[in-house]
Amino acid sequence: MTTKLFRGARIYTPVMGNSTCARAGAEQGKIAFYQDGAILAENGRIKSVGSYEDVSKNLNAASIDMEIDLGGAAVVPGFVDPHTHACFAALREGEFSMRLAGKPYLEILKAGGGILSSVRKVRTAAEDELYAFSKNVLSPTLYYGTTTIEIKSGYGLDTETEMKMLRVIARLSRETHQSVVPTFMGAHAVPEEYKSKPDDYVALLCEECLPAVAGQGAAKFCDIFCEDGVFDVKQSRKILLRAKELGFRLKIHADEVNDLGGAALAGELGATSAEHLLAASDAGIDDMAASGVVANLLPATAYSLKKPFARARKMIERGVPVALATDLNPGSCFCQSMPFVISLAIMGMNLTFEEALTGATLNAAWSIGMEKDVGSLESGKLADFVALDGETPAVLAYASGARPIRSVWKRGERVA
Ligand SMILES: [Zn+2]
Repeated sequence: MTTKLFRGARIYTPVMGNSTCARAGAEQGKIAFYQDGAILAENGRIKSVGSYEDVSKNLNAASIDMEIDLGGAAVVPGFVDPHTHACFAALREGEFSMRLAGKPYLEILKAGGGILSSVRKVRTAAEDELYAFSKNVLSPTLYYGTTTIEIKSGYGLDTETEMKMLRVIARLSRETHQSVVPTFMGAHAVPEEYKSKPDDYVALLCEECLPAVAGQGAAKFCDIFCEDGVFDVKQSRKILLRAKELGFRLKIHADEVNDLGGAALAGELGATSAEHLLAASDAGIDDMAASGVVANLLPATAYSLKKPFARARKMIERGVPVALATDLNPGSCFCQSMPFVISLAIMGMNLTFEEALTGATLNAAWSIGMEKDVGSLESGKLADFVALDGETPAVLAYASGARPIRSVWKRGERVA
């Protein structure tokens, strides 16, 4: 057993305690602070956390294997990125230029670009090649403080390739320092070969893909892109109900471009989270609040698409727990930095730094079912934390676009 005592930390953390849901409303802005803080970790898990005086009380110096002074840095939980598409085989910079020239995303999709060009690359890539490319995409996220990350499949769009992606995601989980949560997103787009018969693809997902993924236990969540020109509400409901029956927890890319009623569907089906929500209606927001659905907001995507941000303040006021994510993907948003996302949330969506911190840690953990292990610095959880290059987490927005991070720790080990 290895016991480590971290001291010299100005600790800022949301607190979960015995609560049974993500932090909503005024709770989202409540953060515990220990000025002269310490963390005692045993075999990578937090044994106790608090003021140095409290943590070191009754401690036998001989039982500490290592004492680490964090030098008065602000210390926050390791960031949890609850929404990424970080498994792919090629970048799409050319398409980015097309977007900058004014071509709308749904038009690029119709012309066989967008998601479908990533699908062609992932289908033809060898499994090792897909792994190597994805690993390179992933590694900067750890450098930016992300110690837990969700990764979706959805560039295969057939059973074989979706399973290949999920094997690569499982390998990333085993062979990198991050905790990785896998999500099946076969309903990311309608593949080219089903263009004229989308309902047949819905049937394939329900009858073949979902049972195959469930049979292998290859994903914890099932996600879907519910949007005009992709999957309508009726198709989304059918796929998600089948997924629920097979034991998946649910997520929905909802109301990103148009208000189709995806937020309301998330509420109706008891989804764990709804994603994007740029166009979510007041009624949809209220449905989410009533069902405890976490809003996974992706401000770097709005930024990259030059769109107005989601109405985060409205969601917090109406009692929807808000989480923050990068949406790291090759198309709409190639963002690897949670500090940048936090900065956008504070400067663009008017969250306080306390609300943004909860969004990037504890609420994000709830939205991927990891709240028992990560998302806050509390006894029993993993010793995952980030020592910031500043005295408060406000430095994440103050030093916008930079990396105000001194060190990143996963299970009590320095990893960046
Ligand atoms: Zn997404």
